[in-house]
Amino acid sequence: MSLLPAIREDHDPFATAGLFGGLERFLIFLRWTSYACPHCRGVFRRDFWPHNVRLGNPEHICQKCAIPFDDRSREWPELRIALRLRFFLPPGIQAMGGALLFCAIFTLFIAPRDVVNLLAGTIVVLIFLSPILIWCVARLLWILRSKNRFENDPSSMQRKMGTHGTI
Ligand SMILES: [Zn+2]
Repeated sequence: MSLLPAIREDHDPFATAGLFGGLERFLIFLRWTSYACPHCRGVFRRDFWPHNVRLGNPEHICQKCAIPFDDRSREWPELRIALRLRFFLPPGIQAMGGALLFCAIFTLFIAPRDVVNLLAGTIVVLIFLSPILIWCVARLLWILRSKNRFENDPSSMQRKMGTHGTI
C-alpha cells in the first residue's frame, strides 16, 4: 500500500526584500521547513536546516489522527547520490570545513619556518578539521544503522519491491 506523502512547507518570513533595509540577509538562518500530516494537516516536525535529508523508515503514524503516512524519510540504499552527499556533508558543514581549513593554513603560514614540516602541518590540519572528522564518523554510524534497518526490517521489504519511489 502506498502512503500519502507528508505536506512540506518552507517558511521564510524574512524573504520580503527591503523589509528591514537589507538586514534580513543576516536572518537567513531563520528559515524553517515544516512537515504536516496529509490527512489532518497536523505539523509533526520542523527542520531548521533547509532541505534536510533524514534517514529512517518513512512510515509514520500521525499522533493526532492515527492514520499512517509517508514522512519523506528514506533509508540510505534508497537515496540518490546527490541526497547521499547532502546527508553526509550538508552545505553548512562544507562551509565550516572550508573555514577551518583556511584557519589551519593561516596558522601554518604565520608559524616560524623552522617549526613547519610535513608532520606538524598534518597535525595542525587534523586538529582544525577534527570537528568535521567527528561529524563524518557520526554520520557514518547513522548510515550503517540505516543500511542495517533497510536490509532487516520487514516494512522496508515492500519499498524494495518498488512500491515507493526514491525522493
Ligand atoms: Zn494526522
